[in-house]
Amino acid sequence: MAVKITDLCINCDSCIDECPATAIVSASDSPVNGDTTYVKPEKCIECADSTMPKCSDACPTEGAIVWDMPYTAEFEAHFVKGHESGLYAIREHKKNGIMFPSVSPKPFREAISIATRQAGVAVAG
Ligand code: SF4
Ligand code: SF4
Repeated sequence: MAVKITDLCINCDSCIDECPATAIVSASDSPVNGDTTYVKPEKCIECADSTMPKCSDACPTEGAIVWDMPYTAEFEAHFVKGHESGLYAIREHKKNGIMFPSVSPKPFREAISIATRQAGVAVAG
């Protein structure tokens, strides 16, 4: 990832059109639970070239968007394990190789510490 949407989300969908990476889908299109707006970690680029993540700028709900681990090889187990527990939808593609972070890592903000990510600190809008 990335960033992650929590169960504080009110499903207003304000963040979806703001995402430059088309990484966010509405709850009804969520590949994991269908209850909450979902960020695809394999697409999120943390808006690394912007001042702040666009989704958090658009979000009216404090705590709905939190930091998650970088989508890099170092944290592959985090995302694969999350897939097994239904948190993420990381899967193998038949034709396009695989979307695992070790194969297709995404940009992330080095200024956001691992401790902050592990703690799931809210992304400030
Ligand atoms: S941080 Fe940026 S790329 Fe990631 S979900 Fe939010 S708007 Fe999209
Ligand atoms: S803008 Fe915030 S509250 Fe609205 S859908 Fe996105 S994460 Fe949820």
